[in-house]
Amino acid sequence: MANINTGIEWCDRTWNPATGCDKVSPGCTHCYAEALTKRFHTNFPNGFDLTLHRNRLEEPKRWKKPSRIFVNSMSDLFHEEVPIDFLKEVFEVMRETPWHIYQILTKRHERLRELADQLEWHDNIWMGVSVENQNYVNRIDCLRQVPAKVRFLSCEPLLGNLELDLKDIHWVIVGGESGVKHRPMQSEWVDNIKQQCQDAEVAFFFKQWGGRTPKAAGRLLDEKIWDEMPEAWEKHQKQWNRYTLTTSRDRGHGSAVSLQESIA
Ligand code: SF4
Repeated sequence: MANINTGIEWCDRTWNPATGCDKVSPGCTHCYAEALTKRFHTNFPNGFDLTLHRNRLEEPKRWKKPSRIFVNSMSDLFHEEVPIDFLKEVFEVMRETPWHIYQILTKRHERLRELADQLEWHDNIWMGVSVENQNYVNRIDCLRQVPAKVRFLSCEPLLGNLELDLKDIHWVIVGGESGVKHRPMQSEWVDNIKQQCQDAEVAFFFKQWGGRTPKAAGRLLDEKIWDEMPEAWEKHQKQWNRYTLTTSRDRGHGSAVSLQESIA
């Protein structure tokens, strides 16, 4: 089921310490972040120009409910105009809020690889790259060099058949493009990725077929919903239950510290 807060099936909420971006590959052609920026232009005075929002850095600390947080759904965190010091601040907030899972997705695979050594990869940080067609499978090689607990691929919008090397990859998300000018996704491409995931024992998540709207063609594949998640997710969920109990017990007593202690 699509998440009611984000409309994105694989996360619970979004956090945008930066907004705005520049297009780098065919997957960007109908960028939904750019479309949202135009539609709600009063909320984005700088339009789609890369903009840092330092005032949003602390937001996840105020969200007591453990959540899967998509970082920078309105940008690309590894955009060349995001300074390394700002990235370090973002990673520091993620370190300080271990009750959340953070899902970062980039098309800037080379910058990701270059900067990875300067960042602290705590277990609650999941790192992914977009792979829309076979010309961009080299992004996966860069991702493999990143010491994230979970490394994942977003094959959305899927624009062609993919032959993937899934070594050290934990999760693959597949989805078709939506919108008036959507580029149709072939069912054979989806079947092929699903089979490769099954062969490599990698979790497979089918987001949607796409069409004029995201829900136009639904998300059934072989008459079922594919919502597989990486193994790390189950472990984290068990911790969530403990956090939630602790939060309830400590409600009104400033529970952030006790939450952190309970997971140590
Ligand atoms: S990298 Fe992502 S946010 Fe940036 S233009 Fe491309 S699709 Fe949009």
